[in-house]
Amino acid sequence: MNHDNYQLYGPQTPQTALVLDSPHSGTRFPADFNAVVSEFDLRDGEDCFVDELYRPVTELGIPLLAAQTPRTYLDPNRHAGDIDLDLIDGGAWPHAYVPSGKARIGKALIWRTLDDGRAIYARRLKIEEVIGRIERCHAPYHQGLSSVLDRAHDRFGVVYHVNCHSMNSVAGKMGEGGEGSPRADFVLGDRDGTTCDPAFTEFVRATLASTGHRVAVNDPYKGVELVKAYSNPPARRHSLQLEINKRLYMNEAARERSAGFAPLQKTLYALIEACLDYIGKDVRRD
Ligand SMILES: [Zn+2]
Repeated sequence: MNHDNYQLYGPQTPQTALVLDSPHSGTRFPADFNAVVSEFDLRDGEDCFVDELYRPVTELGIPLLAAQTPRTYLDPNRHAGDIDLDLIDGGAWPHAYVPSGKARIGKALIWRTLDDGRAIYARRLKIEEVIGRIERCHAPYHQGLSSVLDRAHDRFGVVYHVNCHSMNSVAGKMGEGGEGSPRADFVLGDRDGTTCDPAFTEFVRATLASTGHRVAVNDPYKGVELVKAYSNPPARRHSLQLEINKRLYMNEAARERSAGFAPLQKTLYALIEACLDYIGKDVRRD
């Protein structure tokens, strides 16, 4: 299943109760972006290579949905009503307005500034332009993800969703946690125990920690819209956000893979295999 805005790797019908998505690894720049900073700078918001890091696990029967358009163009990990009014022509939004507070750091549905605080546009966006981005990018991604999660839940009676991200090694001026804050190797986010069974979060934490990595939970990232929108632990729908520190697998300044890429890919493969084992105990057998 493919769409201009996302690609679904792995099986169309989930073969396991585990589903992955990578909402921030898209690199296809739409012609109507009309930003005043370079494409290289616009990749500032990208979770570089995250889809590639997880691609091998799709051979285990796990679907991986990956966004194709850049996060700075539209962030699927935001509510469609999370509009930054400072970016809108006229400063008012005529549709549902659901602010998350991220507009304060320029990172609402459509980014206004880069991590270093520079403005992305020399203009405000027209309302129709924003609606177009929502219709072309946000809605299809959400439909694609919710439908693959539903298919897994229908088939297995439970679904575990791992929402895959990466983070800069040190917070920028507009970064979470305050400028200059160094970050752990991995940060797990379950919105303080509300988006998945805390036992699953602890299982993933302990598995990663056993490989010698430093793992933080809900600090500074708790998880945002996707884990919130599609989780419902009492209904056996679990979503966990997993942030990987970019220093583990890439040269951040050059945006190139480093020697750490292949070993990290192996660590993630082993983690996902362990998760399948864990989840297997919770799956309804037909
Ligand atoms: Zn991300």
